[in-house]
Order: sequence, then structure tokens, then C-alpha cells
Amino acid sequence: MKPITGLFAAAVLFSVVSGVGAAQAPGVDTGTTSLKFCVGNVQRVTAKLNSVRAALSAYYNDTEGAYPTALQQLVPKYLPAIPTIELCNVNNVIVHSPSQRVANVSGLSPTDAGGWAYVGNGPTNANWGMVFVNCVHTSPSHIPWYKY
Ligand SMILES: [Zn+2]
Repeated sequence: MKPITGLFAAAVLFSVVSGVGAAQAPGVDTGTTSLKFCVGNVQRVTAKLNSVRAALSAYYNDTEGAYPTALQQLVPKYLPAIPTIELCNVNNVIVHSPSQRVANVSGLSPTDAGGWAYVGNGPTNANWGMVFVNCVHTSPSHIPWYKY
């Protein structure tokens, strides 16, 4: 039997790195036009956004009216993991490589870092519990990502 080296070892390493939400996955270069990569991008991202919002709603119901202070508190009871999202712009150019990062914000004020933005800072904030895509680029469906 041959020793396990080369491509197989590289594939294992890749899966480990991507599993922890590497900021820049191999093979995904921001700034490159990739119709193949961007087809279905809006549907994939909005499905994940809906899953996060459903998890927040379930958390809110279970706690009788409180949202988590950090989105990570939904894991694992309400979400298996913070979803990883990749973002394309209206010209099918990749603008943010796959990310599951969460920026903590105090309102609908994206920092355009990719990943998510979440308002977790308490009941006195009118936007408490709001989650949105942390991107000001225009999606392939002609809507700024943070407005979904
Ligand atoms: Zn962006």
C-alpha cells in the first residue's frame, strides 16, 4: 500500500482549513469574474439568511423575548454552525470570498467585510436581533446585499 501523501494530504488539509471558516478559500479569488461560481449565489445566501433569522426567532420564543448577545450563541442548539457565505456582485464578480465571520453592529450599518452583521446589544436598541449580510455591493439580483 502506498503512503498517503501528495494530493490526498492536500485535500485533507483543505477540508480542515475550510471547516474553520478560512477567510480565503483556495480557488476563490475576489475580483475575478466567475459566472459558474455566481449562478445561484443570491438563492444560496438568502436561504442561509432565512435559516439564521428562523434560529433567532426560535431563540426569542424560548427565552420569552430575548435575542442572543452574539450570533454564535445560536450554535449548536438553534443552528449547526454560523453559515458560510460567498458574495458576488451584479457583474458576477466575486467580491467577498467564503466567510462565516460576524460583525457586531448597532444598526443597519454594514462594514462591508463580507459574512454577517448582527445587532446583539440589548432591548434598548430598536434594531435588537437584526441580522443582515455585511456587504454594500449590489447582488446579481440588483439589490444591495445588506438590504435582504
Ligand atoms: Zn461587499
